[in-house]
Amino acid sequence: MKRGLARVTTYAVVTLMLVVALRYTPELPEHPAAEVMQQGDTTVVAGAARPWSRVERLNRGETLIGLLKRAGVDDRAAQEVVRAATASAINARYLRAGMPVEMTADSMGESPRELVLHLGIDRLLRMTRSASGWTGAEERLPWTTDTVVVGGTIHSNLYQAMDSSAAKYFPAHAKDELAWALADIFEYKVDMSRDLQEGDQFHALVERAVGPEGITKVGKVLAADFSLSGSDVQAIRFEQAGSSAQYYDATGKSLRAQFLRAPLEFRRISSNFGSRFHPILGRLKNHKGTDYAASAGTPVRAIGDATVIRAGWAGGYGNMLELRHRNGYITRYGHLRAFARGVHPGSRVDMGQTVAYVGTTGMSTGPHLHFELLVGGVQRDSRVALKSIGGEPLGRDRRGAFDLRREQMVAMLAGTPGVVRLAAR
Ligand SMILES: [Zn+2]
Repeated sequence: MKRGLARVTTYAVVTLMLVVALRYTPELPEHPAAEVMQQGDTTVVAGAARPWSRVERLNRGETLIGLLKRAGVDDRAAQEVVRAATASAINARYLRAGMPVEMTADSMGESPRELVLHLGIDRLLRMTRSASGWTGAEERLPWTTDTVVVGGTIHSNLYQAMDSSAAKYFPAHAKDELAWALADIFEYKVDMSRDLQEGDQFHALVERAVGPEGITKVGKVLAADFSLSGSDVQAIRFEQAGSSAQYYDATGKSLRAQFLRAPLEFRRISSNFGSRFHPILGRLKNHKGTDYAASAGTPVRAIGDATVIRAGWAGGYGNMLELRHRNGYITRYGHLRAFARGVHPGSRVDMGQTVAYVGTTGMSTGPHLHFELLVGGVQRDSRVALKSIGGEPLGRDRRGAFDLRREQMVAMLAGTPGVVRLAAR
């Protein structure tokens, strides 16, 4: 009796360890050894047949049939399982190595009556044997969605601010995604690689999806604000019937404008380059532009719809691209390594289109982009000149609904950082 109890205890511990291992291993590693366990029934009657479960993992290069045979399933049954799996729209030839397959039999030594293939983090195929043969059904494991307020202070750059404020709610890759999402939302208003200064603050209200094995994804950003040396910019996500959601500022104007604030996408600039001042570049005398440190080959984008005026060598600028926009605005991009395909004098380019690649041609000490904005033929500070060009305001009939939405969002943004709402999906 004592030995029996010890055995049951061992099984219970092994089961628990296995369940924990399965639950908290995001990427299931390759694992050739079979793990055997007894499924814990609440009442164990001496002598009664108890269901017997084991977990096998698919080895690299192994087929499903191979695994089943290895686990002692006879040939005919294995063939039948693969047929049923294929009928369930599973490509049995492309299963990932390390995929766990749970097998349950009526008792030890019997052929299994149920197989569960863990196809992915939120997908499994449950196959059951009946008198008429094997059938399979795919199951989706639920994700949960909640909403989180993240708030932080800028000390060196947005990545760093995210590290200290979002780490509690998002793993490393998701924190970067959130930084990129914010940069995208404000890309007509704020140049995240240059406009942020020590002490600036931000808040964001973000949906977060948590998967069955603890995988976390950044969902929609519902609202966000930045206080930049005293001036505030707000973004409220608002949906209008019949069109896709957009972000609006506090006055109900779309954040979308005629120009992007930066010629490099924030997500392309590594955190090492994120701070405003780069030691190598310093400030040149009579420098009439903005320098962006970025690795060679980083795509350069047109900040607005334009016609190419010039794409070629221009002395100290090295390879230089000049674009003419509406309203007499001209942008210049210097020290380029190369121009994008199809970029020639006279060709048309769209806002955001990749037009060239960062390099260090001409008078340059290291890979960087020299960017200039000319208004009426005179170089202007893009931070000032581009700020005045606002987006389309919301229609009068939508203002009431927007203001209500905005009030709710602003109240949440102002709240204490943390999970603010649980919403089951
Ligand atoms: Zn420069």
